Amino acid sequence: MSAPAYDNDNIFAKILRGELPAHKVYEDDDTFAFLDIMPRADGHTLVIPKRPARNILDADPALLAPVMATTQKIARAIMAAFAAPGILVQQFNEADAGQVVFHLHFHVIPRFGDQKLRPHTGQMADQAVLAENAEKIRAALGG
Ligand code: 5GP
Repeated sequence: MSAPAYDNDNIFAKILRGELPAHKVYEDDDTFAFLDIMPRADGHTLVIPKRPARNILDADPALLAPVMATTQKIARAIMAAFAAPGILVQQFNEADAGQVVFHLHFHVIPRFGDQKLRPHTGQMADQAVLAENAEKIRAALGG
């Protein structure tokens, strides 16, 4: 079964083009990382490739190495920034698997034992709290 084509007007494509705001924590030639607007835990970050990909099913395999390298970098920074003993990396492919935004992304979420996560795509966080959390992660990344 073939997946629908990549939609250039998805929300993350607009963020990459600077048409929508985001709390950026990291960027390099291939990848971009920013806070999830409805975080399941403080510091919940999304890592995306700059090149178009709907999800891992259609992604050019060459995209995946830089995205995973950035995911690792962000996971380590979130651990340090929030003194998190664990990190959840999560990724959904197609609506039936829970995908809501159709530009490939990896969720990087700090975990604290059995402390419950907030719901997926639940409540929008306060912008000031997001700004503060983004700053903590940028500081842990060394800039
Ligand atoms: P998924 O496609 O992995 O199921 O979920 C998409 C994720 O993107 C959700 O966690 C949701 O909170 C987040 N999200 C949806 N719209 C926006 C947005 O406009 N900005 C940001 N930063 N995150 C968003």
